[in-house]
Amino acid sequence: KYMKVLIVGGVAGGASAAARLRRLDEKAEIILFEKGKYISFANCGLPYYIGDVITERGNLLLQTPESFNARFNVDVRVENEVVSIDHKEKKVKILDRKSKAEYFETFDKLILSPGSTPLRPPIKGIDSDGIFTLWTVDDVDRIKSYVNAKKPKKAVVIGGGFIGLEMAENLADLGVEVDLVEMLDQVLAPFDFEMAQIIHQEFVDNGVKLHLKNGVSEFVKSSDGLEVVLQDGSRIKTEMVMMSLGVKPQTEFLKSSGIELNQRGGIVVDDYLETNLKDIYAVGDAIEVKNFITGDKTMIPLAGPANRQGRLVVDNIYGAKTKYDGSYGTAIVKAFSLTAASTGLNEKQLKQSGKVLGKDYYSVVIHPNTHASYYPGAMPLHIKALVSSDKMLLGAQVVGSEGVDKQIDVLATVIKARAGVDLLKSLELAYAPPYSSGKSPSNMVGFVAENIIEGKVKVITADMLDSFSDAVLLDIRTPEENSMGSLPDSVNIDLDVLRGKLSTLDKSQTYIVYCAVGLRGYVAARIMMQEGFSSVYNLAGGYSSYSYYNYEVNKKPTQTMKMARELEQIASSETTVVDATGLACPGPIMRVKQSLETINHGNVLEIHVNDPGFKNDIGTWCERTGNTLLGITKEGKKFIARIRKGSLECDLNKLKSPHVIDSGNDKTIVCFSGDLDKAIAALIIANGAVSMGRKVTIFFTFWGLNVIRKSEKVKVKKSFIGKMFGMMMPRGPKKLALSKMNMGGMGATMIKGLMKKHNVPLLEDMIQMGLKSGIRMIACNMSMDLMGIKEDELIDGVDFGGVASYLGAAETADTNLFI
Ligand code: FAD
Repeated sequence: KYMKVLIVGGVAGGASAAARLRRLDEKAEIILFEKGKYISFANCGLPYYIGDVITERGNLLLQTPESFNARFNVDVRVENEVVSIDHKEKKVKILDRKSKAEYFETFDKLILSPGSTPLRPPIKGIDSDGIFTLWTVDDVDRIKSYVNAKKPKKAVVIGGGFIGLEMAENLADLGVEVDLVEMLDQVLAPFDFEMAQIIHQEFVDNGVKLHLKNGVSEFVKSSDGLEVVLQDGSRIKTEMVMMSLGVKPQTEFLKSSGIELNQRGGIVVDDYLETNLKDIYAVGDAIEVKNFITGDKTMIPLAGPANRQGRLVVDNIYGAKTKYDGSYGTAIVKAFSLTAASTGLNEKQLKQSGKVLGKDYYSVVIHPNTHASYYPGAMPLHIKALVSSDKMLLGAQVVGSEGVDKQIDVLATVIKARAGVDLLKSLELAYAPPYSSGKSPSNMVGFVAENIIEGKVKVITADMLDSFSDAVLLDIRTPEENSMGSLPDSVNIDLDVLRGKLSTLDKSQTYIVYCAVGLRGYVAARIMMQEGFSSVYNLAGGYSSYSYYNYEVNKKPTQTMKMARELEQIASSETTVVDATGLACPGPIMRVKQSLETINHGNVLEIHVNDPGFKNDIGTWCERTGNTLLGITKEGKKFIARIRKGSLECDLNKLKSPHVIDSGNDKTIVCFSGDLDKAIAALIIANGAVSMGRKVTIFFTFWGLNVIRKSEKVKVKKSFIGKMFGMMMPRGPKKLALSKMNMGGMGATMIKGLMKKHNVPLLEDMIQMGLKSGIRMIACNMSMDLMGIKEDELIDGVDFGGVASYLGAAETADTNLFI
């Protein structure tokens, strides 16, 4: 008698098992049951079929029942659902979904690979038309025909996991305006926040609107589609919704089988993938596995483990006794021009399990180039690796535009080898300039980890800066790089002149050094440590990591951005195009500087760059140098920035009303004082001028910033000095004191009473009136930095700018007041 094996589920795990079985045993009777219409379909490819990347539906169907039977002699029964199992009798009951007839099959061995199914929580309105989940070929057919028929212009994706992101990207690539809603403060839960921030930025740059820390409370049908009501009360009008909230195992049919299931419904198996019932095995998404690194029980629904388990279980049925030693979640996803991949544990998981940074584990953050920096097209690769104190690699995350798959696979292999720093350092990996560097990024992880663990350098990460508020921040980049943006309250000393300036620094003070990506910071830290500085830390990942950590997903367009758009629309200017795509930071900015010197005022420089850091820096640089960033667009991997030579206000004024320039009757006020009476005077003059049709700009600087502070307390991250200043200074117009005769606030109260009596609006009302009637209020960002005041602390509607903004406005004014 030959062995009779039944298999439940005909895709990843089930089909792998069936094929392996036949390869090992030509005589076995194999029946494969699949409740759906298709077997062995490319579920991982489904999002790309919706996005028209995979254009042929047939390419998703890797095998048909007939082709599988022809190749493997397996009796494939689609639309046949296994509904129950009788272990005692060793038989299963099957429902033929077409004929609705039920029948039985006996087995010697039974392999379960029923997979998982997407979660669909009972949210009000979830059964409305146009709300989809994506898991099967039927799902994809439904979505595809809806998209083809309705040509939706707007879609909402709910859930920022792998499939949610793939759907968001594919819909956006079809030209659909996509909103992505995610309950956590980040997408891609397997990544740490600062790494996910890189992906957030990529999605925002590609036009996807992110709603983080927000869930769906209801779907409401409207005349022209659907409205998604979010938990914060906001509503998004849309034409389709993709639900992508995660999965649960499809194991309801096992409930009365006697097979042990865990709390989540996952099938419990032993090391050999056999269930608690003899001769019944299970693989794939539906099983509980051991985490390879921690040994904890978990569920990891990925195609790789399902395929490997399908093979292994058959080997075991044929006597191999091979243990499945666990999964560790190596995964990868495309995110527009970037790729994000992770393996093993992340820092959130380490912290949750009570592990302490710097004691139990170390975090290695590097941003090496994808390949040799001198070979064109090098782009930064962002790597975060977690290493235990005994130098084992615990996990890693890699984000970048090239070579991410290579690095993650190397790192995943090192984890599986239960190796770490020593192996990483000594791996001999392929290198030629177009591909990698003499020291491969994976080697670099090993080198940096060793330096940290052996105490050659102490590092802190961007999220820890707050707890080092007494430290001096030392920016050791070049002054040009510093001009593009820096950490608040930091001092700039170029690494190349640092040795000569050490005598001006206090050796007993704590210093945090930082550069662009962490490498020069390490050099600076080594210099200082060897010169006897007692407490020096390098900021891991440098300014790059800091910027990503602090990236604001929903930053509203500022007044400056709106004016730049207006300027671009009305200005006619010559454009010079410069290609800086081969250059890495700060090369592109240096090229902007040189190129602007060669063009005339009012003309435009269009620069093509592929260093993503440039996008964040160029705005600040333009502001500080009195030029105008008209806008940045993204084309594939390339950023295209348009920069107009000259200051925004001056040019916009000239272009909008040339006659006004001749008479120059705008008004500018520098509001330096934070005294109530002086601020009232400034606002009375400003509102008066604006009512006479004059254009008014008030530049709030130093104590004047208090005039435009919000009165409520705003939670923002601040340095120690910033906090002290913040506490001591008045919060907003209601709290200001008189310059004379304040008498502990009595004077101010009396003045306000008199103003009310004489129908003079209060200062806070005058500010709002002024904003409404078009007074431009600029907060000086240099003095904000000095005084530790953050953008969120100032009232809505004010703009942020440097001296160039004020001077630009002053050029067309006949009155300049310093109050
Ligand atoms: P499945 O492949 O889901 O197969 C289970 C089959 O069993 C189903 O066809 C189901 O109909 C059938 N079945 C269930 N119960 C019964 C029953 N009682 N009787 C008969 N038949 C039954 N993973 C990655 O690693 N990388 C990716 O990029 C990736 N992308 C994905 C994209 C999408 C859109 C989807 C849906 C999944 C993706 N996955 C990805 C996950 C991956 O597809 C799964 O982890 C993998 O398919 C699991 O294999 P499995 O055999 O356990 O289950």
